[in-house]
Amino acid sequence: MRVFITARVPEEALARITPEHEVEIHDEDRPIDRARMLQSVGNKEGLLCTITDRIDREVLERAPYLKVIANNGVGIDHIDIQAASVRKIPVTNTPGVLTDETADLTFALILATARRIVEGDAKTREGEFKYWAPMHFLGWKVTGKTLGIVGLGRIGQAVAKRARGFDMKVVYHSRTRLDPSQEKDLGVSFLPLDELLREADFVSLHVPLSPSTRHMIGNRELGIMKPSACLINTARGAVVDEKALVLALREGSIRSAGLDVYENEPDLSPGLTNLKNVVLLPHVGSATIETRTKMALMAAENLLAGLRGERPPNIVNREM
Ligand code: NAP
Repeated sequence: MRVFITARVPEEALARITPEHEVEIHDEDRPIDRARMLQSVGNKEGLLCTITDRIDREVLERAPYLKVIANNGVGIDHIDIQAASVRKIPVTNTPGVLTDETADLTFALILATARRIVEGDAKTREGEFKYWAPMHFLGWKVTGKTLGIVGLGRIGQAVAKRARGFDMKVVYHSRTRLDPSQEKDLGVSFLPLDELLREADFVSLHVPLSPSTRHMIGNRELGIMKPSACLINTARGAVVDEKALVLALREGSIRSAGLDVYENEPDLSPGLTNLKNVVLLPHVGSATIETRTKMALMAAENLLAGLRGERPPNIVNREM
């Protein structure tokens, strides 16, 4: 069958697909342009796409033979799942294999913001490290503080486990509350969102982007966080109203933020890069060699199953 792969993937993943199927690949890191996408899906049975591709009704209408959409990533907010389900096209993602990496990066951001790691590196390179002094370059303590996790799924739980090593008190808010024994095992307690925002020193977001989570953190929510609090977002940019965040950071209504994702990435909201109290990363939550290889292999297996007419292991269409 014919397969379109929209971005460069590790050789191992490609090698799973090419012996069995005819592959067209956009063999670059730069996201594919819309015209190429619309043209290339036209005669394909399989699509292996990634999070920068918008797979909407128009793409599906241009792809009359499509049997499976295998996404190389866990977030699926860029795919019109409902429209795919109407056509009985399974959509798949790559859950689990990127959980540890994203949780590790969350902690990297917690530490980087609290202990001013990026700022300290820059100052040291600039020759500004001239002496040690008792009041020089002070940051904020992480150990023993309260961490508020919003969205206690796979990644949220992995963050909670890491927080234990820092003796943190962990509170969470999530759509589905864990049962008491799971809460006890993880050492977490549930709070309504507003109470979590009032109490936490670090608020870390781990919900998927959906109509119910878009701008979940806006003006009002930032306003009830502690002025000493830090917001970490490794979920999806649009979970936060980025304009409101720039304002809150500028006016000091929260102390700092650590961001891996942006509302209109790769574009950043005006003013964000001028702020000293924010650490900015280029959406690298899952970006290790090991995990990106596992993700692509998982996407390839999902694609192959869909092409064989089997139910792919990581199907996300609720309707199917
Ligand atoms: P997951 O296991 O599905 O966890 C998501 C959690 O959020 C679930 O517990 C879910 O509750 C909860 N939730 C959903 N809607 C909610 C709402 N409206 N209010 C409160 N809680 C809500 O997903 P995951 O694997 O942890 O991944 C989470 C997200 O991280 C992904 O969707 C992706 O966008 C993002 N991500 C980013 C990177 C990166 O590179 N920065 C890497 C990987 C993932 P239920 O239990 O009721 O479903």
